[in-house]
Amino acid sequence: MNISHDELVFVPLGGSGEIGMNVNLYHYQSDWLMIDLGISFSDETTPGVDIILPDIRFAEAHKENLKALILTHAHEDHFGAIPYLWDRLRVPIYGTAFTLALLRRKLAEAKLSETIPLYEIHYNKEYNFGAFDVEFIALSHSIPDPAAIVIKTDQGQILHTGDWKLDDTPMLGNKTDTNRLKQIGDEGVIALIGDSTNAMVEGRTPSESVARQGLTEVMAKAKKAVAVTCFASNVARIDSIVAAAKANSRHVCVVGRALHRAISAARDTGYLTNLPDFVSEEDAGLMPRENLVIICTGSQGEVRAALAKIANNMHENIHLQSGDMVIYSSRQIPGNENAIAKVQNQLLRRKIEIITDEEAPVHVSGHPARDELSDLYHIIRPQIAIPVHGTARHLEAHAKLAKACQVPQTLIPENGNIISFQKNKANVIDTVEVSQFTHESGNVIDLQSDMLRSRRQMLWNGSVSVSILLDSMDILIQAPTISQEGVCLEEEESDYLGSISLLVDNQLEKANTKILSDDNAIKKMVIGRVKSATKSRFRIRPKVHMHVIRISA
Ligand SMILES: [Zn+2]
Repeated sequence: MNISHDELVFVPLGGSGEIGMNVNLYHYQSDWLMIDLGISFSDETTPGVDIILPDIRFAEAHKENLKALILTHAHEDHFGAIPYLWDRLRVPIYGTAFTLALLRRKLAEAKLSETIPLYEIHYNKEYNFGAFDVEFIALSHSIPDPAAIVIKTDQGQILHTGDWKLDDTPMLGNKTDTNRLKQIGDEGVIALIGDSTNAMVEGRTPSESVARQGLTEVMAKAKKAVAVTCFASNVARIDSIVAAAKANSRHVCVVGRALHRAISAARDTGYLTNLPDFVSEEDAGLMPRENLVIICTGSQGEVRAALAKIANNMHENIHLQSGDMVIYSSRQIPGNENAIAKVQNQLLRRKIEIITDEEAPVHVSGHPARDELSDLYHIIRPQIAIPVHGTARHLEAHAKLAKACQVPQTLIPENGNIISFQKNKANVIDTVEVSQFTHESGNVIDLQSDMLRSRRQMLWNGSVSVSILLDSMDILIQAPTISQEGVCLEEEESDYLGSISLLVDNQLEKANTKILSDDNAIKKMVIGRVKSATKSRFRIRPKVHMHVIRISA
């Protein structure tokens, strides 16, 4: 693949066609920039795997010319892969104050804080990275200090929105800087590359003030203790929960490491400075229940988070009782529905009331709905719209909306596309293959590696083990030994194992001397037959292991 020196190029490596794992590259005059380096979380298609990492092999191939990793904000799907993958790039990282404050804490936990160069950036200033000048523009989102990124070259500029919404009353942090965005639009923008999360949601995303009001009203109706779960990094929401608690004469106890980490990062960067003292976990049990609000992690059903432990009454210090209330001040991330339902069922069994955003306005999104997207297109008036940060359906809806806003060209990207901008047109000039990775005991492993494939195969299909003992004439010394895990019920086992033993015996009897003298040829023949016999009996294709042992004497 040939990218010429003067070609302005965009390469999404993650987040295009999926929710999560945002990684984007820009190229101009041999220089490269990376925007965001996020993770995704696994679902039922990736059993035994916690996190999913993007495929950055293409970026690694260009790391000599990679000038910077620029972070739009501190959500996991935008910066969560740094502790696992930074070492492969060893590139300086740039971000706003809160983004770096949270990153520093995460890196310290991973014992990486000393090694990674972090540089704080400020809004409305220009920073030079080789062939690029970059400006950061203030946004409103569900985390402090998010930035849109204007990528300026002598061929024109691109607006990379990051995650954003329009909120005139964000309660904490910035409003989206529409004045500066208007100026950028007036200067002319080649392409708007932007957030598609809520491109299928009509209207406008409600303000944080709505959630604050909703929380206050719901708490007013609660008779006993209230626990509220939200995303730890949603500092404005933490502030809203505290304000709602105060309005209802309740004291607040914070439970969960990620919340303490986010609160400390917020305080370091000038947020949450006027909060009342929190009640410690140990003292929470001593408070009158009608005066207590617990803020806890675990809104996505995470088994190790505080709420799952509280729901099972396994938490060291926090014990909810019948008549208490749990408020989910968060959305369900697609893929987490079952895990969330499990925790909620446990709470309901214990007669604890649950309030979600279906019952009351206790949560608002951090992403722009359709009317906000339209507003942005009318402000920026780009030549090209490239929707990112969404599944194929989100990207399609976003592209259609951009077209309706009179954007001359829309292009729906896929991870790995190499998109070249020339004369205000975007074209996919090539595509690099991208896989997905995970992290396990210090190693970054391809999800399609033999090891993880075998693991999935064994999980879904069980495993069969075949051992044979051959003498020096390649003749079976005893009947083949067979065992199985997860293939059949106990009462069927002896019949199944006997039939497989016979089948292997027959195969060896029929095999010619060329096959019998070659362990690999024997394995190939036997494994195939065991799989197909098991498939026709149980409709599964197990992982088959085979040991060929030869006795020479
Ligand atoms: Zn975000």
